Amino acid sequence: MINVTKTFLPPQVEYQEILKRAWSTGWMTNRGVLVKQLESDLKDVLSVTNIIAMTNGTLPLQIAIKALKLKGEIITTPFSYVATTSSIVWEGCTPVYVDIHPEYLTIDETKIEAAITPNTSAILATHVFGNPCNIDVIQTIADKYGLKVIYDAAHCFGVTYKGKSIFEYGDVSTCSFHATKLFHTGEGGALFCKPEYYNDMFYHHNFGHDGPEAFQGLGINAKMSEPQAAMGLAVLPYIEEIMQTRNSAVELYDELLKYSAVKKLKIRENTIWNNSYYPIIFNSEEELLQVQKSMNLQNIYPRRYFYPSLNCLPYINGDDCKISESISARILCLPLWACMERNTILQISKFLI
Ligand SMILES: *Cc1c(COP(=O)(O)O)cnc(C)c1O
Repeated sequence: MINVTKTFLPPQVEYQEILKRAWSTGWMTNRGVLVKQLESDLKDVLSVTNIIAMTNGTLPLQIAIKALKLKGEIITTPFSYVATTSSIVWEGCTPVYVDIHPEYLTIDETKIEAAITPNTSAILATHVFGNPCNIDVIQTIADKYGLKVIYDAAHCFGVTYKGKSIFEYGDVSTCSFHATKLFHTGEGGALFCKPEYYNDMFYHHNFGHDGPEAFQGLGINAKMSEPQAAMGLAVLPYIEEIMQTRNSAVELYDELLKYSAVKKLKIRENTIWNNSYYPIIFNSEEELLQVQKSMNLQNIYPRRYFYPSLNCLPYINGDDCKISESISARILCLPLWACMERNTILQISKFLI
């Protein structure tokens, strides 16, 4: 069976070697040596100023909304994974959808101002598939109206924009280290923020604890555990290989699908992309369903990332987003993973040429 992705697994002995350090301390969570080392290694690898490792990539979004004390309406993208919207709703705010750019697939920054009301408190946008939003324009709008900016950068491990880690932009950025993502800890994630927010975010992710007996406000438990960090530390030495082999796989797809009718993602200028996904856009949903069906018959399972458009979720009363709804119905992510075999890519591409 060929799935949309395959989790990169380091040699098991290497994972076990790292776990021995947790055994020797008898310390399984509460920011042990492994979590601290993972944070420090990631700071170096990603060139970021600060990071808080967390237990998944959703809680950092909710913590960001909570800690920045956002209220009322949050302007967001309809084209993302459901966690982008559910975090807003879970925190008692109202998502206001702004349609996406038809080629970059990120929020259309030219339509943001029209959606701002006196109740708007923030913009929460996704660098979807690792493709940066128009960060400069979004920041200018946020400054003009006094809004906070959060980026759901779940797909962005290793992406740089204008020579800087993409996690360095906005008030807060979040990443997911879920097993389906480029870099993973099984379940896991991280929050990156401006230095002035660091302490507050940190307290929020650990029940508000400031030492064993003092509390700095409300918190939740979003701590990463030692076994999770061990997985990250075992995967990290392979990150170059993961990035390079994904890049080769994407180049091969590009070459094979050069004359195909499907459209591909347009990567924003000044970006070093991470080849995190291989989305293709069909001319119609019928074509997509037909290709998906023939692939499934051969045990190939691409995924409809992201469907449905989030403004159409059953618990959302959103306005229409014509472009996002149309793209969502026609976009399919082809199987892609690190060290993917050339033959597998050939086999998959045959359905499209
Ligand atoms: C994967 C993902 C998340 C959630 O991350 P988890 O680690 O699974 O909680 C959030 N946003 C986007 C865009 C994602 O793809």
